[in-house]
Amino acid sequence: MAGFKKPVLVGNIFNDRKDRFEDGKTVHTTAIKSREDREDGTFVARTLNSTYLVYPMGTHRLATHENCDRPHCPICEGGLAFCETCRGAEASLPTECPGRKMTEEEEEGVMAGIIDFTWEKGWMRR
Ligand SMILES: [Zn+2]
Ligand SMILES: [Zn+2]
Repeated sequence: MAGFKKPVLVGNIFNDRKDRFEDGKTVHTTAIKSREDREDGTFVARTLNSTYLVYPMGTHRLATHENCDRPHCPICEGGLAFCETCRGAEASLPTECPGRKMTEEEEEGVMAGIIDFTWEKGWMRR
């Protein structure tokens, strides 16, 4: 179709199973062939050669352990919410994920309830 652009995705890569990209590297995908929405707001996108689990901007990438054998794991037993992208946990999780590791100052500010982050407004005082 003339003028019709195939959908692609632009984003930062984390946990590349094929080790082609370093964490946080920005990539443009090739054309998306299929998309499958998941209950948690993420979706799976497939191109000809790759499969991406996509976290829309602002979605925390909460850690889950499969087959965890730690005797007292706070994430599995305690249900601790911990984001592998911004490294916030529970009280130090901003409203939306900034898409990178927070600085110590940001993390402490969120924890203390002084600052918060959304993509609409950026970092701001509460
Ligand atoms: Zn996060
Ligand atoms: Zn665990």
